[in-house]
Amino acid sequence: MSSSLIRALLLAVLAAVVAYPIGHFVVPWAGWTFFCASLGLQMVFHFKNFARLDRWSYAPVVDDSLEGEGAWDGIFGRLYRHEKDLRAQIAARDEEIRMLIAAGQALTDGVVLLDDHNQILFCNTTAEDQLGLVIRTDRGQPVVNMVRQPEFVAYLQGEDFSRPLTLRSERGEDRVLSIYVIPYAGNRRLMQVKDVTQTDRLDRMRRDFVANVSHELRTPLTVLAGFLETLQEIDVDRDEQKRFLEMMSEQSLRMQSIVQDLLTLSSIESAPPPEADVVDMVNIVDKLRRDAEALSAGRHQIVVESDGQGDLRGSEPELVSAFGNLVANAVRYTPPGGTVRILWHASKNGAEFAVQDTGIGIDAKHIPRLTERFYRIDRGRSRDAGGTGLGLAIVKHSLNRHQAQLEIKSTPGVGSRFAARFPASRVVGV
Ligand code: ADP
Repeated sequence: MSSSLIRALLLAVLAAVVAYPIGHFVVPWAGWTFFCASLGLQMVFHFKNFARLDRWSYAPVVDDSLEGEGAWDGIFGRLYRHEKDLRAQIAARDEEIRMLIAAGQALTDGVVLLDDHNQILFCNTTAEDQLGLVIRTDRGQPVVNMVRQPEFVAYLQGEDFSRPLTLRSERGEDRVLSIYVIPYAGNRRLMQVKDVTQTDRLDRMRRDFVANVSHELRTPLTVLAGFLETLQEIDVDRDEQKRFLEMMSEQSLRMQSIVQDLLTLSSIESAPPPEADVVDMVNIVDKLRRDAEALSAGRHQIVVESDGQGDLRGSEPELVSAFGNLVANAVRYTPPGGTVRILWHASKNGAEFAVQDTGIGIDAKHIPRLTERFYRIDRGRSRDAGGTGLGLAIVKHSLNRHQAQLEIKSTPGVGSRFAARFPASRVVGV
């Protein structure tokens, strides 16, 4: 029995103990009156406290409304402490939940919690962005009502989560998501959503690249193998043999230039940032003019327009290779009689190296893709001109490493202008 109850009973017993001698030694009714009056007073007191407790139980608060009197003091005290502990526990639990939600929000992967009917319980902002969910309104909704792509619905209903699902986003952006479903707490599910757009793109680029290289090398190899077989099996006269050997050498040179360009590209890609050597542009422009004249063999007019001042800071071999590719392309894609201009202009605000031709030009739709590896507008023409399809990829890469931009302007049948713009930080001597 609790001390509060013992205190209340003792008070009642005390009333009886005092009432008895009064009734026995004075008059009995006086004893009874005293006993009833003191019990009544005690009842009023208990009723008052009981009413207070009753009121409090409808809206429990932790304040001095829980300060009792007499025997009720202990009861109110214990309630006060219990309520206070409970509130502290709830606050601590709330804080833990807040921390868990914050951790879920901080994840770079999307997270969606589903109940046993695949209804959304929680999702973080990454998942909202990836799957187009809005947790405020979508909580409690079946996830398949929100993400309706048939492959997703089939995956979730198929109940085989041993492999992740690759989902291509249908919401405009070209996004690729990898979805893992992890069962937890009985039939509940945790959906982890990874954005694999970048790795998917790299994977595709790698596959395309291998396919392109194989394709590019297969053609000359087939030609070579064909000639070798013919030479081994058929007796051909000397002139024919000479012609075959010339064609074989042409094909092996072609393979050599492809491999050379691939090596150049890979060395640029893996090389550390370009050195800060000062590249003498007057010299280089002069060398480019001589190379263009040699390649053109008198079929074009080669013009140089240069201020004769300003040099570049960077890697000379990379810049020479980039500028050389632009000049070679201008000569190769300009019919005889045309003009190729090599332009160099440097100022305090930056510098521009440009090659302008009066050649066949390029249709606007091809321009954004020209710097892709092996992208060619006319495969046959490029091959006949000795191209590998890697020249502009090398140009773009080298320029990027020097913080320079490649600008291409062209009109079919009129000519093209390829300009490399360098920032002021790369220019010296102006
Ligand atoms: P390629 O080795 O085939 O020349 P590039 O990467 O250097 O490869 O160029 C890609 C394509 O861009 C070429 O195949 C060609 O169609 C086009 N091109 C490049 N430069 C010019 C130019 N000056 N005039 C017209 N077309 C050009």
